[in-house]
Amino acid sequence: MLALSGVTAGYGSVPAVRDLSLAVGEGEAVGLLGANGAGKSTTLRAISGLVRTSAGTITFLGKSINSLPPYRVAELGIAHVPEGRQVFPELTVKENLEIGAYVPNAKADRRRTLDLVFSIFPVLAERRKQLAGTMSGGEQQMLAVGRGLMMKPRLLMLDEPSLGLAPVVTDATFAKIQEIHAMGMAILLVEQNVTRALTLVQRAYVLESGRVTLHGSSLELARNKQVQAAYLGI
Ligand code: ATP
Repeated sequence: MLALSGVTAGYGSVPAVRDLSLAVGEGEAVGLLGANGAGKSTTLRAISGLVRTSAGTITFLGKSINSLPPYRVAELGIAHVPEGRQVFPELTVKENLEIGAYVPNAKADRRRTLDLVFSIFPVLAERRKQLAGTMSGGEQQMLAVGRGLMMKPRLLMLDEPSLGLAPVVTDATFAKIQEIHAMGMAILLVEQNVTRALTLVQRAYVLESGRVTLHGSSLELARNKQVQAAYLGI
């Protein structure tokens, strides 16, 4: 579904990711793991068209997307739920969700998709008239994921959904992501919380200083001594 091959991307003359290759299959959940500053968010931004690549190719459903502007990438079916949620604080929950349905493919179906999002996240239905900025961190994370789903994407990219959340709230957020994945949604999950991420994804890539240093099934990575020492505290 999504394939990156030899991608180099960054800011100014400094590449934040180098020669990066990864793939996400139809309906698959894949992790992109690593410490602060490893280049995980930059990889998602390169896929979304927010950061330009200086080398390599990115294809989605067989089409090259490297040179497309972000709105075209979104229209093709990639939803990017950014780090720190970035909901519109002065808009209500429902208004934030409606903004997610701006792509042509999603507009016509927005009522039905809204019902689906409300069934996955009943708290958003209860709070539909509340200003997003007054919601808790966990609720805002659910809103950000809901807004992504409103686009009716084929691939949902999630950047650090556990960021700043208490463990119990992280549990609830991951349970919802699992539920969405079980409905057939392909997921590319960026996480520093490696333990948590490996319980959700089937495969993962480990990024260090902008390069993929390891990849494998979740089971292989959870048993890997390097991963255990660096990320799992074992
Ligand atoms: P984090 O979890 O802290 O976001 P990350 O793995 O997602 O880490 P990136 O945000 O992709 O890492 O950052 C990779 C590198 O690119 C870092 O060295 C960072 O300082 C740099 N970087 C990120 N955003 C910018 C920017 N807008 N301008 C310049 N450099 C940036």
